Amino acid sequence: MRILLVSPRGYCAGVEMAINSLELALQHFDVPLYVYHQIVHNTYLVERFSARGVVFVDQLQDVPVGATLMYSAHGVSPRIRQEAQARELNVIDTTCPLVTKVHGEAVRYARRGYTLVLVGHRGHDEVVGIMGEAPGAIHLVQSVDDVAVLDIGKPKRIAYLTQTTLSVADKQDIEAALQQRFPHIEQPRTDDICYATHNRQQAVRKLAAEAQIAIIIGSQNSSNSRRLADVAQSLGTPARMIDSPEELQRHWFDAVGTVLLTSGASVPESLVDETLSWLRRHFDASVEEQSIQQETQHFHVPPPLRRPQEQTSPPSTADHQDPEKAVAS
Ligand code: SF4
Repeated sequence: MRILLVSPRGYCAGVEMAINSLELALQHFDVPLYVYHQIVHNTYLVERFSARGVVFVDQLQDVPVGATLMYSAHGVSPRIRQEAQARELNVIDTTCPLVTKVHGEAVRYARRGYTLVLVGHRGHDEVVGIMGEAPGAIHLVQSVDDVAVLDIGKPKRIAYLTQTTLSVADKQDIEAALQQRFPHIEQPRTDDICYATHNRQQAVRKLAAEAQIAIIIGSQNSSNSRRLADVAQSLGTPARMIDSPEELQRHWFDAVGTVLLTSGASVPESLVDETLSWLRRHFDASVEEQSIQQETQHFHVPPPLRRPQEQTSPPSTADHQDPEKAVAS
């Protein structure tokens, strides 16, 4: 069996920053330490942090007044920020800067009186946070069909934004439908789909046809991981999503010569290593790593967790702290 190990895969800069922040917070603060929503959408990591005293909450009433609360990488709405302030919580914000960029666009357009269309998945934490920036002014569409029935009249000024972790192909279709229906619609200055989503999808798109099965390590609630499975399926390669190698089944690999293996942006590399070990244990497997792109993006942990020298030094230009510089590469 040939294992096509795809790169880039696994942690993106936003997830790395959020996970490092939570590790540092565990060193600096007493447990229980509270996190609003899952720090990143990965069951394995959430279970391990829970075992170390981190409490993941979906409502702030579950956080004691004055406690330390971390916002997840997916960001929060202004209502949550106000509620946290009212409860005098010690907030550590690990929203990915590329999600913050989309929040900023929503605020700027809404202030100028635009009608906004957000392309995204209903109920996703990131989408809920962005919609909360301008309730009433933002309309969600999930598909080309949604664009056809969008009931917003003929707005003079209209713009669209997107969730950072969409399928690139789906986004292009929805974008075309929006432009057809609203020829004057404005688009984000730089793509809202982040560099990590682009790169991981592009790698699968380039290599999936060589494999008879794609194994995508990632949780079901991870949007970017699910899109990797979608890309493989759309190219005719059956895809299986797993949280960990315990879910693998031998019969999936009957008559399989080549396996594509990759992982979503919130998946630790240790799970890839364990999956490779499982495959090697069960089959005569050789690994071929295929990299389509190097990633150099890096985001600093938020100020309360930075070392003293990082508090005062300006961000390096090489680390792409500026969200506008870290979009699709
Ligand atoms: S997937 Fe993209 S937007 Fe989400 S945390 Fe990673 S870099 Fe940020």
